[in-house]
Amino acid sequence: VNVFFRPVEKIAAVLETYPKGIAGFRRYLDFLAVEPDIADAPDAVAVPALRGAIEFRNVRFGYRTGRPVLNGVDLAIEPGETVAFVGPSGAGKTTLLSLVPRFYDASGGAILIDGTDVRRMRLAEMRRHIGVVSQDVFLFGGTVRENIAYGRLDASEAEIVEALRRAHLEDTVAALPQGLDTVVGERGVKLSGGQKQRLSIARMFLKDPAVLILDEATSALDTETERMIQRSLAELSEGRTTLVIAHRLSTIRHATRIAVIADGRIAETGSHAALMRRDGGAYRRLIAAQEIVWEAGGGMELQPDAA
Ligand code: ATP
Repeated sequence: VNVFFRPVEKIAAVLETYPKGIAGFRRYLDFLAVEPDIADAPDAVAVPALRGAIEFRNVRFGYRTGRPVLNGVDLAIEPGETVAFVGPSGAGKTTLLSLVPRFYDASGGAILIDGTDVRRMRLAEMRRHIGVVSQDVFLFGGTVRENIAYGRLDASEAEIVEALRRAHLEDTVAALPQGLDTVVGERGVKLSGGQKQRLSIARMFLKDPAVLILDEATSALDTETERMIQRSLAELSEGRTTLVIAHRLSTIRHATRIAVIADGRIAETGSHAALMRRDGGAYRRLIAAQEIVWEAGGGMELQPDAA
């Protein structure tokens, strides 16, 4: 459920947030006593820029031998597309998306970005073009400014202010005792869950990645905060390839395509309306089992009887 709950996913959080970059990340791995077999191939290629075409080609993966989680995932995604991944709990959505920035490597098949196998790319450079926004945000003890700009130390004041504005965080920051220079985290001002999420969104506006991976919260914040965050995320995903683990219809509605994961494969893809028309289809079963939240107002026009 929560991407950053499990230790290995904590690493993902640190990657996204650790101020000292990859070197600090390696120390963090040492600290966790995790043996990373994810490293640059000797002939790894530079990744100056990405368009964001992503292809899952017969992808297989399991955390333990004999316990496969992904059983041959095939899916090709165009640059700029937003694909909502849905499926029963434990189906492997988080696992699949964590293979893209190589938090793990596939045990079979391949993931290609712009036609190149991710395992052939220089890891740190590749990750510079991939943004991860999780429901659980890791902040380090520093100022708001440092937390937003850590990955873009060259960011100008104007760029930071713009990122704040787009993340709907301006007023919150203005109300802090030292504004952008307010220390947050354990030794500073404690931010709410929603504020932290918006901070991580501001971070992404500044990072400006070609590929965005979102893990939508299952447990709702208060509705107004939630709406604001969803609006910011919709804006953030514009012009980027976005892969979102979706639990809400209002998110799915923004997707160009839905991919239903079941039994370690892509069971179906299509629009909400197209998938709703498939009698006995995997998507309809998910809806029937209420694995997708139909919040009032969020997607009225897509209610089952209207589809
Ligand atoms: P949810 O919607 O509940 O988050 P999901 O579709 O994202 O589920 P995953 O989190 O990818 O599913 O989990 C797929 C399977 O892999 C589950 O059986 C889960 O228990 C297992 N799993 C996930 N992470 C690990 C891990 N770090 N070590 C071992 N097994 C894991």
